[in-house]
Amino acid sequence: MTITPSGVQAAASAQPQGKEVQPAAGAAAGTGEAPSALFPNYSRYPLALVKGHGSWLWDDKGNRYLDFMSGIAVTNLGHAPEKVKEKLKNQLDQLWHVSNLYQLPLQEQAAQLLTKHSGLDAAFFCNSGAEANEAAIKLARRYFQKVKGEERYEIITFKQSFHGRTLATLTATGQDKVKEGFLPLPEGFKTVPLHDEEALKAAIGPNTAAIMLEMVQAEGGIYAVTPEFVQTITGLCQEHGLLLIIDEVQTGMGRTGRWFAHQHYGIQPDIITVAKGIASGFPAGAMLGKAYLREAFSAGSHGSTFGGTPLATSAIVATLEVMEEDRLPDRAAEMGIYLKEQLEQKLSRLSFVKEVRGLGLLVGIECAGPVGDLVLAGQANKLLFITAGPNVIRLLPNLYVTHEEVDQAVETLYNVISAYEAQSQEDV
Ligand SMILES: *Cc1c(COP(=O)(O)O)cnc(C)c1O
Repeated sequence: MTITPSGVQAAASAQPQGKEVQPAAGAAAGTGEAPSALFPNYSRYPLALVKGHGSWLWDDKGNRYLDFMSGIAVTNLGHAPEKVKEKLKNQLDQLWHVSNLYQLPLQEQAAQLLTKHSGLDAAFFCNSGAEANEAAIKLARRYFQKVKGEERYEIITFKQSFHGRTLATLTATGQDKVKEGFLPLPEGFKTVPLHDEEALKAAIGPNTAAIMLEMVQAEGGIYAVTPEFVQTITGLCQEHGLLLIIDEVQTGMGRTGRWFAHQHYGIQPDIITVAKGIASGFPAGAMLGKAYLREAFSAGSHGSTFGGTPLATSAIVATLEVMEEDRLPDRAAEMGIYLKEQLEQKLSRLSFVKEVRGLGLLVGIECAGPVGDLVLAGQANKLLFITAGPNVIRLLPNLYVTHEEVDQAVETLYNVISAYEAQSQEDV
């Protein structure tokens, strides 16, 4: 497939059969000549992005793109947000790193802000979503084994969930494709279908420690958990003394129109995990827990060299302060409604589009077939978005996205999907 730099013609030339696009190894290095010195574990698009500002990205040829994927829910404040940049720059002049063996006032401040907005009581800082989920799994096990003196360790998770790529978190993940070739997997995980009450009840046993879930399965295809099933889960947690762990790595930090997605459901989890949008692009993660879990992480029980160091926490604090000042969760709720309305209105004429769903600015467009070629056609038309599973387009604009930017993105989506439909017709 060839991708021309402009016009919807590129979409029409895409193969409607949704074949996998595997750029040549050399393309990954951006040279097109020498073989890449990188492992080929990412299937990379043939774009090298070199500059970002707000909702916009520029490639190495000077083309400008409207970013509707935000580094997969990371750059929630847009690219290079001014106040975060300032705070990070000041911190660069002061102090980059000291060990967690010392007092870290900025880390305390970041924890105060996160606990205030989540309703949880204590924070542990790390560097990624997987590491936050590892901490949650370890905290749950240690709470039962050290604090309660019970032999509980098992975590129940759900099919199609995504919790990370470390051995424990890929085992927790309810998708076989992330587990292939990585046997043996650690013990202590069970996965049941989402919204299957009987399977969930049957999975709970004397060794069960916790239930872990995403309020909206993001990687799994943008599926929100129903309030009824959440009720079932919280009921079972109470009945069996289980901890409830909510993975807010993608749904947290205002993305769904609340600070954290579980707040839409009026529930009080024991543990939540956060990463992606927590520091506007600086790598950071956090695990937040209720006060009674504190003693499970006694001194020396867990740690991370880079977790919550001055650079990271300056970016976290600045991100949270900006979110407070500009009431970004509310803005995400408002703009999410507008985005969904526009998509429903404008795309309803397209037979390839089956459903628009999501929460806040985490939006999925379910299509009648594979959408991989549409992602490429979008890029050719200067709009960046990604997929969530084979048939779902995933839109994750930053939380400052404007009405004009939404209009432009919806128009481009309409153009590329209709061109694709027309091409599919011709091919039949
Ligand atoms: C991205 C993601 C993770 C993994 O985060 P990393 O920072 O890549 O380790 C875990 N859970 C969810 C829900 C995610 O979306």
